[in-house]
Amino acid sequence: MSEGAAKKEEKPRKFQAIRGTRDLLPPETALWNRVEQTAHEVFSNFGFGEIRPPIFEATELFARSVGSETDIVSKEMYTFVDRSEKLEPQPVIGSMDVFLQRVKQLYKSGEIPQDEIGLELVEKQWRKVDDLLKGASNIESGAIEIYELIMLFEALRLGGDVSLRPEATASVCRAYIEHNMQQLPQPVKLYYMGPMFRRERPQKGRYRQFYQIGAEVLGGSDAPAIDAEVIEMVMMFFDRLELQGVRLDLNSIGCRECRPKYVELLRAELLKVKDKLGPDSQRRIETNPLRVLDSKLESEQGIIATLPRIADHLCEDCAAHYAAVKHQLEMRGVIYRENWRLVRGLDYYMRTTFEITAQGLGSQNAVCGGGRYDGLVELLGGPPTKGIGFAIGEDRLILSLQESGKAPAQQGRDVYIAWMGERAHATAIRAAKDLRKAGFSVELPPVEQKFGKALGQADKLGAKHALILGDNEVSEGLWTLKTLADGSQLKLPEPALIEHLRKSKAVSS
Ligand code: AMP
Repeated sequence: MSEGAAKKEEKPRKFQAIRGTRDLLPPETALWNRVEQTAHEVFSNFGFGEIRPPIFEATELFARSVGSETDIVSKEMYTFVDRSEKLEPQPVIGSMDVFLQRVKQLYKSGEIPQDEIGLELVEKQWRKVDDLLKGASNIESGAIEIYELIMLFEALRLGGDVSLRPEATASVCRAYIEHNMQQLPQPVKLYYMGPMFRRERPQKGRYRQFYQIGAEVLGGSDAPAIDAEVIEMVMMFFDRLELQGVRLDLNSIGCRECRPKYVELLRAELLKVKDKLGPDSQRRIETNPLRVLDSKLESEQGIIATLPRIADHLCEDCAAHYAAVKHQLEMRGVIYRENWRLVRGLDYYMRTTFEITAQGLGSQNAVCGGGRYDGLVELLGGPPTKGIGFAIGEDRLILSLQESGKAPAQQGRDVYIAWMGERAHATAIRAAKDLRKAGFSVELPPVEQKFGKALGQADKLGAKHALILGDNEVSEGLWTLKTLADGSQLKLPEPALIEHLRKSKAVSS
């Protein structure tokens, strides 16, 4: 290898954020903070409390709730085995008891996954070994049997299959059950915000790590007013943020009674026109006919318009519920558009479904999706519970706000301290402390700069004022404050200067 090539080799690798993930940087993060702060305020005005579930959970939780056939679970989850060390069974009489105690403890604490293998070995075989150990006064005779049983425990793994959460409703339901929240005053109203992970094809508005702000209402009632209030809350949140071009689409997708009948009817109708459909829709006739309604293919639109509509096939209860939700929305002054083609991708939805779109997002224009999911808590082993919720795509919400010019301008400093000389440095440090305590954003350069350079720097950072501290200012006890916008200068003692800054900040904000 030539010397040049060796040098090239040595050059350390430059890392980049993984495809589909990105860094959120200032000043954009100020907008993220404003959006999140507004969510905290609006949601708590509606009586919602924040929940922060973990970012990874047992894979099975998502398989069972979101549905193992969905794209999310079957293709898009980041799944890994969390610590796959095997337990080392010790088939030595005398230490077996200690080994079994350890297994039992690890199982109880969940470190050995409570899955099929765990259940079989720990719950069933354990007892056999235990009986044998206890009963075997003549330990020699049972030794081989015990040895064989104990070696079965080799199949036990520590840890288990876990996945980065692709959404948070499953976690909220899991937490509702785990913390016996059905004993709290109902309904329980929770909201969350944070990153979600789906291995989708990245594009504008679609990332592999993206952020959702969502809320869930869980409890014994499915009163239509609950659906309407949840929707009213999202709309108020968007309104507070001045999101532009907001459109709410509403539908009911029926329940376990009426939907399967409708799906069959839809399938039969689709089969009649199969030849006219594209390959994706043809496949979906078998797998999930409802998804055909989602199709954006121009050539299919005419056919889809003639298909039977779910609203005409809802059972009596679902039809009444849907009508009441609409009435409730009208009472709240929430404007919606009925969209019979709105179906949701996740398995657990039923009855009310809605989607909110906003402007400036191109094809990925959905900023919020939500709906009712009665029965999901039960499916996860909890008590019969009704539920409704939504998830807002925060990345898209931010994009839309930026596109419509609602993003706040870069936040500049209130004061840049231009100091020269050792004595002035000490005063500058004290001044910075006092000003920061008083709530001003202050930049204190770490090394001395010529005044000209310092003022140039202050300008670049968008500082409103420069506080000039040199020998004269320190000995006189009068500080010079320069307003950068108009170049005006004032000489003031410290307390008057703080007061002056306070007044000028109040005027500008
Ligand atoms: P879902 O959980 O699929 O109902 O999605 C709810 C909302 O999350 C959507 O309306 C989007 O705004 C947002 N969202 C879903 N997937 C992504 C993604 N990969 N990247 C960015 N936002 C997403």
